Amino acid sequence: MSHVPDITLDDGTTIPQLGFGVYQIPPAQTAEAVRAALDIGYRHIDTAQMYGNEAGVGQGIRDAGLARDQVYVTSKLHNGAHRPDDARRAFDGTLAALGSDHVDLFLIHWPLPTRYDGDFLTTWKVLEEFAADGRARSIGVSNFTAAQLDKLASGSSTVPAVNQIEVHPYHANDDVRAYGQAHGIATEAWSPIAQGQVLDDPAVTAIAGEVDRTPAQVVLRWHIQRGDIVFPKSSSPQRMRENFALFDFDLTADWMAAISALDRGVEGRRGPDPETFDWIPDR
Ligand code: NAD
Repeated sequence: MSHVPDITLDDGTTIPQLGFGVYQIPPAQTAEAVRAALDIGYRHIDTAQMYGNEAGVGQGIRDAGLARDQVYVTSKLHNGAHRPDDARRAFDGTLAALGSDHVDLFLIHWPLPTRYDGDFLTTWKVLEEFAADGRARSIGVSNFTAAQLDKLASGSSTVPAVNQIEVHPYHANDDVRAYGQAHGIATEAWSPIAQGQVLDDPAVTAIAGEVDRTPAQVVLRWHIQRGDIVFPKSSSPQRMRENFALFDFDLTADWMAAISALDRGVEGRRGPDPETFDWIPDR
């Protein structure tokens, strides 16, 4: 039923190009939000151990009356669980919280190069175990720089299926995207509308007026035409519906270029710098 295109990943699996992100949705409200998104037609949910709401994701899928294999679910490793036994325990916790025997995609959430002696390779080897035993259909990383991806490649022949990174018009992150493209790593764009901060940019609102769409739809369509995977977050069913209606209009090459011209490089970043980010929240 879904009109959302699938992207084929390097490992041969497919992922819906548009999904629903649940970062900052309170655990007690997550099942309801996920159910609302699934009712609208979303079939891809992006969660993480550190969001604390994996159980709500599992519940929302069951409440929507969907079989587990009708929904693509991603989760990510807690920053405090990079050591092998911690990672194994944390992954068991993800499956228990979701009430599922597998995730479709499991990611190292942050590289944390100044923690764990900078040894994310050992952590990656543990994710390889989850892929080998089938409990993670695909594995990948998040917030990795090109240099960090190189380091991973030097110690492992498993190519991350995706790299989930901050991408939006103010921080186009094209260097890391290009690295991914050259190495078979799909880019997932987090904070695709810069948490709403790009929506009143005059370049965006002008195009929205011309194409008769909302600013959010214009920016999300820009990502889709660039080929990235996106999962905007909203708690309002009306905005969920708006963010899902991206496949019945096109942006011209000129409009695409005008949005791409908003890139401010690292100045445009809204989230932390992956080279220095070292936050480990309480578990
Ligand atoms: P986003 O860019 O999706 O923006 C979400 C915010 O924008 C919402 O809180 C809402 O206030 C507003 N919004 C949503 N739809 C709107 C609309 N149609 N019109 C006006 N305002 C609207 O930001 P995000 O939640 O940070 O990112 C999306 C997802 O990416 C997250 O839920 C999470 O799954 C993922 N993410 C991953 C990482 C990572 O480190 N891997 C970091 C941040 C986010």
